[in-house]
Amino acid sequence: MPILAGYIPFTSVDWPDHITSAVFFQGCPLRCPYCQNKPLQGMEPLSGASSFEAFLAFLEKRKKVLSAVVLSGGEPLVQKDLREAAEQIKEMGFELALHTAGVNFERFKEVMPLVSWVGLDIKAPFDKYEKITCRKNVEQETLKCLTYLVERKLPFEARTTFDESLLTKEDILILAEDLKEKGVESYALQECRSFDETGVSVELKASWTQDEAFLLALKNIFPKIILRTEIGNL
Ligand code: SF4
Repeated sequence: MPILAGYIPFTSVDWPDHITSAVFFQGCPLRCPYCQNKPLQGMEPLSGASSFEAFLAFLEKRKKVLSAVVLSGGEPLVQKDLREAAEQIKEMGFELALHTAGVNFERFKEVMPLVSWVGLDIKAPFDKYEKITCRKNVEQETLKCLTYLVERKLPFEARTTFDESLLTKEDILILAEDLKEKGVESYALQECRSFDETGVSVELKASWTQDEAFLLALKNIFPKIILRTEIGNL
């Protein structure tokens, strides 16, 4: 059985134009310095976390009002039973979306036939991946996932969380150009926030949200770019 960190019953922000439930799988092999989900990084179950069976029981009761589930994390692709879990949810009649950083291409391929939409995290320009993920060679797996989605013309959004203490605006523009060349059609840039030791959001890190020249340069690359900030989409 997959290990869950928890789930939220309803969300309208995790899959564009869909009201879904979102299930958060425990564990992530990456160590992004800005991670807001550090307790979800380890593979050990958190005390008090929901079981997968409890999540299925919740879905059973909500079948009439919910039609879709987002598989999220942590990182769903670390769960070796992900395909079986996705099958069980799908057999109950729910559509599926996947949030992933594309860390395991083989598992990604296993689950994709069941998934209708993907939010694919692209952490950095591909030559700077290690700086953000603190892991070696992750970008090879992510690139394979990206190519898989583009070649099959599957619906997905590429998204990058922009921490200005780690990447520059120039890095983001280079990445956006590269993604466009690779065939990405939907791209979102997400604001990164600072948190205090209790997990409370304390300050906006982003100055890019006010930099009109930068935003214009981005829109020249992706005219429909999604600029996702704490106060909503710009
Ligand atoms: S991929 Fe997501 S969950 Fe994993 S360390 Fe990075 S921000 Fe945290």
